Order: sequence, then structure tokens, then C-alpha cells
Amino acid sequence: MHTHAYGAHASDQALEPMRISRRDPGAHDVQIDIAYCGICHSDLHQVRSEWAGTLYPCVPGHEIVGRVSALGADVKGFRVGDLVGVGCIVDSCKECEDCESGLENYCDGMVGTYNGPTPDAPGWTLGGYSQHIVVHERYVLHVRHPESQLAAVAPLLCAGITTYSPLRHWKVGPGSKVGVVGIGGLGHMGIKIAHAMGARVVAFTTSESKRAAAKQLGADEVVVSRHAEEMAAHAKSFDLILDTVAAPHDLNALLVLLKRDGTMVLVGAPATPHPSPQVFDLITRRRSLAGSMIGGIPETQEMLDFCAEHGIVADIELIRADQINASYERMLRGDVKYRFVIDNATLAAG
Ligand code: NAP
Ligand code: ZN
Repeated sequence: MHTHAYGAHASDQALEPMRISRRDPGAHDVQIDIAYCGICHSDLHQVRSEWAGTLYPCVPGHEIVGRVSALGADVKGFRVGDLVGVGCIVDSCKECEDCESGLENYCDGMVGTYNGPTPDAPGWTLGGYSQHIVVHERYVLHVRHPESQLAAVAPLLCAGITTYSPLRHWKVGPGSKVGVVGIGGLGHMGIKIAHAMGARVVAFTTSESKRAAAKQLGADEVVVSRHAEEMAAHAKSFDLILDTVAAPHDLNALLVLLKRDGTMVLVGAPATPHPSPQVFDLITRRRSLAGSMIGGIPETQEMLDFCAEHGIVADIELIRADQINASYERMLRGDVKYRFVIDNATLAAG
């Protein structure tokens, strides 16, 4: 099947309309009519090959929601018409310890939703800035939110799971004090989810203009990280700090806010390294510096169901396909509250 898409032909070129093909559904495949796709900062990093290794044409997009339009003969868990989502993973080895534990995100053979190896033409995966996608049923999620919220559910498929997974892994709940650094696509979901888990949430931002809005998202307190006295007021007090910032910055300023045995988890993935942290800020209070990457498929379903139950969706700005390039520039300026989502029906306009 041919489908309208939006992608880039080179790292220094804008995205533009293109036509791509999708395989016919195999026995275990689910074919999806994509309704909406979120724009993650990782899309921008990859389209511009900031992490190196991007293959072109590159069609980004890994926050996909839509409806099942066809099924392979052996698919058991889905029906035509179901509301579904696809996140960052469309395949993995299915046999290793990670896959057997439902941690496909850590499988060496994990295939990303775009720029990952596949036998399908052109030889690498093409993502959700397109009207249709065909995905093995193992990597397709059920969406149980009301259909009216579908566009705002899309960002849960990456921003939601990337923040939910470390919050669960480090056992956040009532009594925990959690910091969320960077109020962008990931950060605003981290605030909502940590709040719903019962934690006391402090948001850290570089943008004075987000101070009031962050409280509405569920932050108990907001710190503008430029203000040293606001930072100092939280010294040695956090159980967990989730750092979502998309650019290199001083980690020590945050590490010293952890209490003994506290952990700072990096989920932001800047193209160039952070300055190395001070060993003494770690050893003097047995603090940990950790990382976390998206989440496995069972946990992604758990996150979607948790969000449906708690009425959590992303705060979005819905855009047309011809606004994708402009929205990348706005995302770089921090000018989005808090996630752009593409109305994929507008891809057909070319
Ligand atoms: P985003 O919407 O652009 O948000 C990033 C936020 O970081 C900004 O809103 C801003 O918040 C803060 N920030 C402070 N200084 C910045 C600077 N110089 N440049 C950019 N941002 C700055 O991005 P996102 O989609 O949430 O993604 C955040 C990062 O996580 C990206 O690097 C992305 O690739 C990565 N990511 C990682 C995973 C994973 O599995 N670990 C998954 C998805 C995305 P304030 O205005 O509040 O300061
Ligand atoms: Zn993402």
C-alpha cells in the first residue's frame, strides 16, 4: 500500500511531503490508519542526524494513535476498528532475557519505529508522520481513553512511558519527593504522572513563563533553576530527580538536591555530553546517577491504562502537516505547551 508521509531527504533539509509504501499485513501484523502523531524532541535530533547514523529518507514519528484497518490471519488480541497506539518499538528479537521480561526497549535487536533495520523497503523503518503503518501485534497497544481524547493520548506513547517507567522503577509513591527538570513534552507528562502516583512534585524550569502553568499540571512547587536561592531551599531533599532536558547542562546543581541514597535519572538525550559530574557530590551521600530509555511493551500498556484510569492526557497543540517544520523551530525555542501533535488527515493535502 502507498501512503502519504512527511520526511526529510538529508540532515540539513526541511521535512517535505513524500509517498512511501507499507507491507501487506503478515499473519501477526496489525494495519493501522494513523489519526494523530506526536512530535518528540528525538524526532528533531534524528531527522537532523544529531545522534549520527540517520538514514534518508527519514520519516520520523513514534507517538502514533489510530484505528485498526486490517489484521493478519493469526492476530488474536485486536479487531478491525479498535483504537490503538504504537510507540518507539516495532520489533525486537523476542527471545533474549530482556524480551522475555517484557523489556523489549533494552533488547540489542530492538527495532525503532523509524530509522531501524527492516526487510521492508527502503531497508529501514519509516515512522508515524504517515497515514498508515503495519506493525507486529506484539508492539501494538490498546487505547482505552475516550475517542474524543485521542490526539492528546498520542504523546503518552513516548513522553508518557519514558517518564512513567523510571517513576515506577524507583518506586515513587505517597511520601516520595520527586523533581522533574525541564517542562517540555516529557517533563509535563512526568509532572502529571508523578502527581497521580501520590508524590510531592517539584518542577524545575529555565522559563519563568512556565511557573504558573506547571502548578496546573500538578507540581506542588516550581523552581526557576537560574535562581540559586530557590535551588538551595531544596538541598538534600529529593528521593528522585527526573532530568528531561534536551541540552547539556550542569548536573551537580541538581545532584546536591538529592538526599542520601537519592537517584537522579537522565532521560533527556542531548547530542553532546553533559559536563562530568563531581564525584564528591555522589560519594558523600551515596547518591546515584542513572539513565532510563522509554519502557517495555507490557509497561507501556500499564501506563496507558493508568493514564486512562486517572484521566491523564498530554497538553497539546494540534497542527497540520505543513506546520511541522515551523513547530520544530518552536520546540527548540521552548515555545510549546507542551507537545505538538500532527493531524495525520492533513498529510493527504501534500
Ligand atoms: P522538549 O519538549 O523540547 O522539552 C525539553 C525541555 O528541556 C524544554 O522544554 C526546556 O524546559 C528544557 N531545556 C532547558 N534548556 C534547554 C535547551 N538549551 N535546549 C532544549 N531544552 C532545554 O523535548 P522532549 O520531547 O521532552 O525531549 C527531551 C529530551 O528527552 C530530548 O533530548 C529527547 O531526545 C529525549 N528523549 C529521551 C527518551 C528516552 O527514552 N530516554 C525518550 C524520548 C525523548 P524549560 O523551558 O522548562 O526549561
Ligand atoms: Zn520520543
